Amino acid sequence: MTLAEKVGQTHQGANLDPVADHELIRSGGIGSSVMASGATAGNQRDTGVRASSVDAAQRIAVEQSRLGIPLLFGRDVIHGHRTVFPIPLGLAAAWDEDLVYRTARVAAAEASLDGVTWTFAPMLDISEEPRWGRMAESLGEAPVLASRLGAAMVRGFQGDSPDGSDNGVGTPDAGAPDAGTPDAGTLGVGRVAACAKHFVGYVLVRGGRDYATVQVGENTLRNAHMRPFRAAVQAGCSTVMAAFTDVDGVPMHAHRRLLREVLKDEWGFEGVVVADWDGVGQLVNQGVAADLRDAAAQAIAAGVDIDMVSGAYSAHLVELVESGQVPLDLVDDAARRIIRLKLRLGLFEHPYARTPAAIPARALAREAAASSFVLLTNRHTHGHNDRVGTLPLAASPGRVLLTGPFVDGGEALLGTWSLDGRAEDVASPASAMRDRLAQDAIVDDGRFSDRTMHLVREADITIALVGEHPSRSGEANSVADIGLPAGQLEVLRAMAAIGKPLVVVVFAGRPLDLGEVLDLADAVLIAWHPGVEAGPALIETLLGDRSPRGRLPMTFPRSVGHLPSSSLARPTGRPIDAADDQDAGRYLDALVVPRLPFGSGLTYTTFSYGPLRLSAHQMPRNGGSIEVSVDVTNSGQRPGREVVQLYLRDVVADVTRPLLELSDWVSLELDPGATGTATFTITPGQLSYYDRTMTLRTDPGAAVVTVGPDAGSGATAQITVTG
Ligand code: BGC
Repeated sequence: MTLAEKVGQTHQGANLDPVADHELIRSGGIGSSVMASGATAGNQRDTGVRASSVDAAQRIAVEQSRLGIPLLFGRDVIHGHRTVFPIPLGLAAAWDEDLVYRTARVAAAEASLDGVTWTFAPMLDISEEPRWGRMAESLGEAPVLASRLGAAMVRGFQGDSPDGSDNGVGTPDAGAPDAGTPDAGTLGVGRVAACAKHFVGYVLVRGGRDYATVQVGENTLRNAHMRPFRAAVQAGCSTVMAAFTDVDGVPMHAHRRLLREVLKDEWGFEGVVVADWDGVGQLVNQGVAADLRDAAAQAIAAGVDIDMVSGAYSAHLVELVESGQVPLDLVDDAARRIIRLKLRLGLFEHPYARTPAAIPARALAREAAASSFVLLTNRHTHGHNDRVGTLPLAASPGRVLLTGPFVDGGEALLGTWSLDGRAEDVASPASAMRDRLAQDAIVDDGRFSDRTMHLVREADITIALVGEHPSRSGEANSVADIGLPAGQLEVLRAMAAIGKPLVVVVFAGRPLDLGEVLDLADAVLIAWHPGVEAGPALIETLLGDRSPRGRLPMTFPRSVGHLPSSSLARPTGRPIDAADDQDAGRYLDALVVPRLPFGSGLTYTTFSYGPLRLSAHQMPRNGGSIEVSVDVTNSGQRPGREVVQLYLRDVVADVTRPLLELSDWVSLELDPGATGTATFTITPGQLSYYDRTMTLRTDPGAAVVTVGPDAGSGATAQITVTG
């Protein structure tokens, strides 16, 4: 390869056009394309991917360029392609690796049929900043939850088996769910390269403002924020995207220490590091590079292999190498990584898209949507005393009013980053309700008005669908107030004042401050943005065909003033309020404990926990383990799912460690009266962490084990790590 051809591989353009970009492709001046409408593409749907145009561009690369190296076509397939599943934060609420895996398999199958060979997902930023709009894309605040779900998503996208036993990307297979038999001579149907993003610390943007600066030390990064990325790399993730932000003054696109020394050298990551959109060029805006040439030199040295759209590499790398300012080795390494990815994807054998075929995925979309719902409160109301609470509605509930801005569905239920979703594909709550309740369904027009209050009076029960439109979440959409959007709380107050049962369903891309809503409503369900099967999944849940099964993947704080508010609080030197379990300092004017703890969520039944049983209280540091188990009984009247959660604390460590950190969970499906046992195996590795010298270790000494239904409650026991 010539130097120019190697540099060509590192250049990524946007929306390659077979006519306008013909000469660029033919000359080998470009290696990949991002198919997106612009810098914040997640905020709008575009015209979709056209396999014909992808193939036409590919044909030029394969048949007319000197080396015939195929192009990579990347797209943000974040939570489904044409079949849109719940936003990632909603999927995370299902606490179900298998579900995440299956949704990613379908997304990959649909996308690959359209010519997409690479998705920019999973997003693995730890979710601890509700003001930041990108919470919607994330997989929860607990490193272990995001790690396991992220790894499942990587395997799903890349077509590996759920346990990772087939760890190679891209052998053409028949593994696409429901996709039929792939045609011979096509791309590995059902497989796309995954991309763990955004490496690393992006969530810590100051004030929750998108793209702002980040202050964090390497120890916190390693012990929390980097863990899901490590898990993704271990799951075989092909690519990693650099974050837009700096980390303590060094922009990630120039962060040699974290990208090259840690990710590539220490972790042995052999895949591709891709810049975020114009991330290399933005080094100039960030004031660490004088110009694009300087930015290119810094980014390639730091370990960024592909320059997404800035053009800095394409314009300057050849000259930078020829003038001796950038060692040729760096360009060789980047080009080698990119071509290796193309080989592993099978692109040389099967460069072209297959004709799109319909993939039956609606049943999975409905299952995923229903699994993401979290029931936050469910009180008794008059006439409903035979059940646990207001929900599920009685078999003959009387006249049910469905009201609020999400009644008719459409794109408002798809969520951010649903580029290929179509509003007309969404099954709306209104139609699902009418199908189910016929003349007992009163469906409002989607706008709250004085008429709405008449309807509330007419109905026996009101279901108000409130919350955020997806455009209030996602990239560049931070908010300073995490309450409901303007006006909605006032309407809910007016409805509650009428005195009839009120169920509130909240659609959102982030945790909201729901304090007053929880007081006003008889039942509150958070539904995130559920995707194409939103309506049926919701109505089936409200009517009790399904029971809510989700658990909060993020702490719901009391207010913006309480941020940050997460389950990962670490001990302070001077706990002011000994009664405060969180022990993270108090406010004079407010309680510090979260409104709703991480991991919490109700069902239509109740569960009682037996005592903790431990197989031993001592665990040798080398190779020991302890089994912890607890019996859980369904003490209510309906079947239900309990998510039994294990939290650990290292009592004396080399650095401050969380007071409570999720370590594992077990899901039990129990019929009324049935008892199940949740068994956890604790190993020393689960207590390991990076110490002051950034060395991974497990301490001998005391550790606290907590098992319970959420981060705010549970039974504890002490164990000792020996040796
Ligand atoms: C986002 C990325 C995304 C990329 C390509 C950027 O603005 O930060 O998450 O993958 O655009 O669309």
